[in-house]
Amino acid sequence: MRDTLKHQGLRNRLVNTLINKGIKNEGVLTAIKKIPRHLFMDSSFEDFAYQDKAFPIAANQTISQPYTVAFQSELLEVKPTANILEIGTGSGYQTAVLLELGAKVYSIERQKELYRKTSSFLPKLGYKPKSLIFGDGYKGMEEKAPFDGIIVTAGAPFVPKPLLSQLKVGGRLVIPVGEEKQIMTLFIRKSEKEFEKHEFGDFRFVPMLKEKN
Ligand code: SAH
Repeated sequence: MRDTLKHQGLRNRLVNTLINKGIKNEGVLTAIKKIPRHLFMDSSFEDFAYQDKAFPIAANQTISQPYTVAFQSELLEVKPTANILEIGTGSGYQTAVLLELGAKVYSIERQKELYRKTSSFLPKLGYKPKSLIFGDGYKGMEEKAPFDGIIVTAGAPFVPKPLLSQLKVGGRLVIPVGEEKQIMTLFIRKSEKEFEKHEFGDFRFVPMLKEKN
């Protein structure tokens, strides 16, 4: 598959949809305008790639809805060269958005199939995360902590403690919390011991799971 003018046109439309839904961050909008989302999906879904919808990828997982990716990325307030940890690499689309924002990205995926696929796919598009790990996101990545931002892209039944403790003071954790549906939640670390918590609307994610596959 290639990226064509037609795809570019569909992306411009998608960006307008996101603006109408309230996304303002220029960097995030520019990233979405640039990244060929159709290449992150199974070729049979190519026609749906620029609708604002989640879609199936391998291993029973989904590529998040563009609005959700944009909303989470905006909440993260990524600064260039920031150290960002992502939980749930999946297709790598959110990873690509973070890289376009200039972040150094570390990402963890618990499905080996996706980990393998995305590890070889991202560099082909010129995207080079600092590291992609096959592992358990509940533990975070202690060896690379502290992070300026942590983004969880699966529904977390609770807020894993290691993720809070691996934030820098001033750092932000964006995590959808809940079982059936999730409340998008932002934690800002105010000091060693204090966290500010903000809640946004309801979202739906595939569940964050414990065991590796
Ligand atoms: N950011 C991805 C979203 C994929 S869906 C994208 O844009 O494509 C969520 C991903 O989280 C899935 O790939 C799933 O396998 C992964 N996941 C679920 N539980 C996890 C865990 N405990 N640790 C790391 N990844 C996990």
